[in-house]
Amino acid sequence: MKTIYIFDMDGTLTPSRREMTPDFEEFYSNWANNHTFFLVSGSNLEKIKEQVPEYILNLSKGVFTCGGNQLWLKGELSYNHEFKPENDLINFLEQKLKESPYPLRAGNHIEDRGSMLNFSVVGRDCTLDERLDYFKYDSESNERNMIADEIIRRWSNLDAVIGGQISIDITPRGMNKSQVLEEVRKFYPDEKYIFIGDRTMKGGNDYPLARIMQEEENCSVFQAGAPSAEDGYKDTQRILEKLDTNE
Ligand SMILES: [Mg+2]
Repeated sequence: MKTIYIFDMDGTLTPSRREMTPDFEEFYSNWANNHTFFLVSGSNLEKIKEQVPEYILNLSKGVFTCGGNQLWLKGELSYNHEFKPENDLINFLEQKLKESPYPLRAGNHIEDRGSMLNFSVVGRDCTLDERLDYFKYDSESNERNMIADEIIRRWSNLDAVIGGQISIDITPRGMNKSQVLEEVRKFYPDEKYIFIGDRTMKGGNDYPLARIMQEEENCSVFQAGAPSAEDGYKDTQRILEKLDTNE
């Protein structure tokens, strides 16, 4: 039985919204040459390309973007699940932007990714320092969790999960990373599957996939570091090295 690996990107292979580090790139490019893997991210392909070198993306069997709502095979879009958010959701998010006590609004707060809505109080145009400051604020105030919970309570047809350091991913219910296992099995049925992510706990954007994989046979899930830790990829390396030793 072959092992098929599935990786989250932000916090797992790279620091959040930043390039893969040179030391990890050296390790991972070697590893990638000898293993079968897919990537799954809440980001779109453009952002993924800013963070993971293209030759590494080309070593993957496929890249799932927008939380599993798009699949790219060798740079070609294989499928795309569209999501058109209702006005009442947009109004709700705009209200949250007004209400949040967090002082900074850096711009680009509601990003429509075609198959997912990404919401951020501080805004995606923030600097790295501003990003880390909001991440700290959110860890203390639990703001993102509270907003995500409210969305789930209000809209029975929507899902909201926390991804990265500053934002919430909103999709139609079930249209999240959990779709990925079934898609991977279309390419590789009856194998062993391993998923590594930095937010595999309840409320995290890796949780929908982690939850089903924890219950299925021949599937394993590994948590890489603390959620959105700057050096979560080091833990990923340790996990992969250990798995290879045990094989
Ligand atoms: Mg992540």
